[in-house]
Amino acid sequence: MIKLKQYKESIHKCSKCGLCQESCPVYVESGNECDTARGILILLKGIINGEVPLRREMNKYLDKCLRCGKCFDVCPSEIPIEDIIFAAKCKYLYRSLSGLKTRIMQSAFVKRVFSKPGKIVSERFETKVLYFGENFKEVLKLLNSNSIELLNPVVSDWGAEYLLSGNIIRFRKVINNCMRQIAELNPKFIIVDIPEEKFRYLIKMYGGYSPNIEIKYLGEYQGSDELVNRFFNPLYAEKLVKELKAKEYQ
Ligand code: SF4
Ligand code: SF4
Repeated sequence: MIKLKQYKESIHKCSKCGLCQESCPVYVESGNECDTARGILILLKGIINGEVPLRREMNKYLDKCLRCGKCFDVCPSEIPIEDIIFAAKCKYLYRSLSGLKTRIMQSAFVKRVFSKPGKIVSERFETKVLYFGENFKEVLKLLNSNSIELLNPVVSDWGAEYLLSGNIIRFRKVINNCMRQIAELNPKFIIVDIPEEKFRYLIKMYGGYSPNIEIKYLGEYQGSDELVNRFFNPLYAEKLVKELKAKEYQ
């Protein structure tokens, strides 16, 4: 388990310069200082010093972070905010009652008993893609109607729910499985439900290489309240799939 205390020194390095504020897409939408790297670090400092407990109210600020890394890019103290937020999520997951419930619901046993991964039956076409996300039914239909084959052997997410809840053990299992599929199936295109640069970063982190694969983000962000909720927009997805198909013949 990643420990928040390991980052004590990094957290103390925050000079509160505020440079992270304007670059944070969550802050730009909400205008709430608690959503910025600076605000989160102030709260986490209180937690490390034992002055504030890591409660559900605090957890909601951690959940809003998109892990885009933009604050790290501008931070003069080079504070690894994403890793720190991840460590705080781990602490929450292991300490709180709702975290315990999440761990039980996400355990391999519960998943095995209550949700069987579905097999993919895709039509065979020349253009082939891998998809990692939560909208398999819609994606399969959309791809096949555009003469594109879905390569996934079974329904497979990239581990978003585990990453967001701080369940790093399960997240690593899922993401390693994605990396295995990418290596074995060697697709020309991958579609995902997170921004492409983020998935590229995950491949670099967990696959150990910089992918020369066309990655497409199957979703859009909406207004402030829905910043963390990606959604499947059939019109946007259709446009994206057509674009991808056209690229095959370029
Ligand atoms: S840019 Fe870095 S040092 Fe400055 S306030 Fe943000 S986290 Fe702190
Ligand atoms: S990583 Fe989180 S805190 Fe940093 S800029 Fe992105 S959304 Fe904001």
